Amino acid sequence: MSKFSDYNFNGLKALVRVDFNVPLDADFNITDDNRMTATIPTIQKILADGGSAILMSHFGRPKDGPTDKYSLKHLVKHLHQLLNADGANTVKVFFADDCIGEQARLTAGMLKPGEVLLLENLRFYKEEEKGDEGFAEKLSKLGDVYVNDAFGTAHRAHASTAVIAKYFAGDKKMFGLLMEGEVISAEKVLHEAEKPFTAIIGGAKVSDKILIIENLLERATDIIIGGGMAYTFLKARGGNIGNSLCENDRLETALDILEKAKQKNVSIHLPEDSVIADKFAADANTDVRPSDAIPDGWLGLDIGPKAVGIFSEVINNSKTILWNGPMGVFEMEKFQNGTKSIALAVASATAKGAFSLVGGGDSVAAVNKFDLADKVSYVSTGGGAMLEYFEGKVLPGIAAIKD
Ligand code: AMP
Repeated sequence: MSKFSDYNFNGLKALVRVDFNVPLDADFNITDDNRMTATIPTIQKILADGGSAILMSHFGRPKDGPTDKYSLKHLVKHLHQLLNADGANTVKVFFADDCIGEQARLTAGMLKPGEVLLLENLRFYKEEEKGDEGFAEKLSKLGDVYVNDAFGTAHRAHASTAVIAKYFAGDKKMFGLLMEGEVISAEKVLHEAEKPFTAIIGGAKVSDKILIIENLLERATDIIIGGGMAYTFLKARGGNIGNSLCENDRLETALDILEKAKQKNVSIHLPEDSVIADKFAADANTDVRPSDAIPDGWLGLDIGPKAVGIFSEVINNSKTILWNGPMGVFEMEKFQNGTKSIALAVASATAKGAFSLVGGGDSVAAVNKFDLADKVSYVSTGGGAMLEYFEGKVLPGIAAIKD
């Protein structure tokens, strides 16, 4: 593989896999363009070098071939605006209403340095998700070099995210800037973590996070477990958790994790106390109780003040921090304090020199909600992909570039 930032794209057509799977409203207006803005620096570097960019992406989940609703043509105007934000209006953006075939080939062939071509939705072909080699080869013919900047789909072995890479020589494939940032940060945490290394795992379900916890038992010094999933652990240890969230079929797994942690000398921190509520609602009556003595009819919806104090201290003494999943039902004001306090502790440890990575949908939403995204070292854009990475899996999109 080549390093994107060192590569000179002058005179070359770069075939760039982006993730433009943005949400649209009923009138086809983009309601959140983060995925598009995140990849603009990659496109700009290619154009600035004197190259041209051919962009390909999936968009939604079309079932039976081309449909207007899932056409990437709805994004062309906004893409043009983003690439011409300086007002000079120098970047031309073309659209090909098929991602392979005659028109795509001709338009790609005519593309001049500094120009951009967006191809129609890859998922209009079933071959994309099947990882079909013939389809991948046809796509590969459109560009001289292949750049993968779609970290969010790196865990899928699709034609455009993984299979395509084999049609490019080793020095003609690389990660884009966004993907490079994700891979570097994830590897820093997984393979070069300075200790103490604290992993903060929260969210609703233990079952979703078992693999990540097991992998982290090999790497972290401390694992903080908060959110709804903590109550399965607390019940497994013999606590009374009232009506709190619990996966009864995971009690054994929870005990097993606690036992393995002991053997491996990893400290697992469960919340000493909880903010409890008499119903799952924003206007519930609340109280604070030890997390293992929650009365029947009540449920723990946030970590309590003692837990906040203990967790914050562990975080503050850490050199590496990974955070996935909220500490409570942070969407409701009465139960947001735990998640907010932990976000502040992560920010303060980062200010003292720790490396902190926040990944996974809801913890990313939380740091954004509390305006702390720029106070942590890295916020990952790839929910499912990041989770699988931290579970220790090989991501096809990464392996295909590196091999
Ligand atoms: P996940 O997608 O597994 O990371 O879970 C995130 C969701 O877990 C958020 O929507 C939170 O509201 C929810 N959650 C966090 N703590 C609790 C809790 N104690 N009880 C119920 N739901 C919770």
